[in-house]
Amino acid sequence: MISIRLLGCHGGIGGAARQSTCYLLGDSVLIDAGTGLGNLSIDEMLRIDHVVLTHAHLDHIACLPLMIDSVCGHRQTPVQVWALPEVISILSDHVFNEQIWPDFTRIPTPEQAFLKLNPLTGPITLSSMRFTPLPARHGIPACGFRVERDGVALAFSGDTADCPEFWQMTHDDPALKAVIVECSYPASMKEMASLSMHLDTSALVPRLAALPTGVTAVVIHRKPGGEEQIAIELKAGLPGKDLRLPVSGEVLRFSA
Ligand SMILES: [Zn+2]
Ligand SMILES: [Zn+2]
Repeated sequence: MISIRLLGCHGGIGGAARQSTCYLLGDSVLIDAGTGLGNLSIDEMLRIDHVVLTHAHLDHIACLPLMIDSVCGHRQTPVQVWALPEVISILSDHVFNEQIWPDFTRIPTPEQAFLKLNPLTGPITLSSMRFTPLPARHGIPACGFRVERDGVALAFSGDTADCPEFWQMTHDDPALKAVIVECSYPASMKEMASLSMHLDTSALVPRLAALPTGVTAVVIHRKPGGEEQIAIELKAGLPGKDLRLPVSGEVLRFSA
């Protein structure tokens, strides 16, 4: 079984129920560290050993530097961050650079630091879950993730425009139980979606319609203001589909 607490699952902020991307898997692994991370208590944050990042856009990393600062004096081991090598470089150069935020990979000492940034070049097992990077098209270094435990697999798209390689994978994976995919815009904003390399409903509906039977579609990263229209268009285009449109705070569980 894999449980996911959607601490933040919107494409922006606005009120307590609308927080940016951050998913808690079990109680010690995060995918992304957007503003939803701020919903965790200090005790819950102290249990986070690993943060797996899809990319370095601010809505996916905003609370990572703040969390490290909040927990650093109370942990015996560093918080481990895992991301594509290019994303790790961006974090080092532009966030943990002693100007935007302290370089916690060298504090209090380089040998026993509060933070470790790990370039991810292939699959990795964290807390009994296997994380495998998946292709994404977002105009900057970015990926999705397949997460698998005990024969149950989930596919996270991350932020992406239409990515045929990602969708091909959904047809080749008998363990797949759910696709957790972004849809930032309604169809009327197709041009904006194309410019910013996100999905809109017109691109997503045929992909979700073609998902294998038994694979749940969880649609996240809806941009504030467009959520209702996105829901209307997806429901109209996908009659009978197991379609979830969660809000921040929901918990999803998937089992074999
Ligand atoms: Zn992005
Ligand atoms: Zn985003």
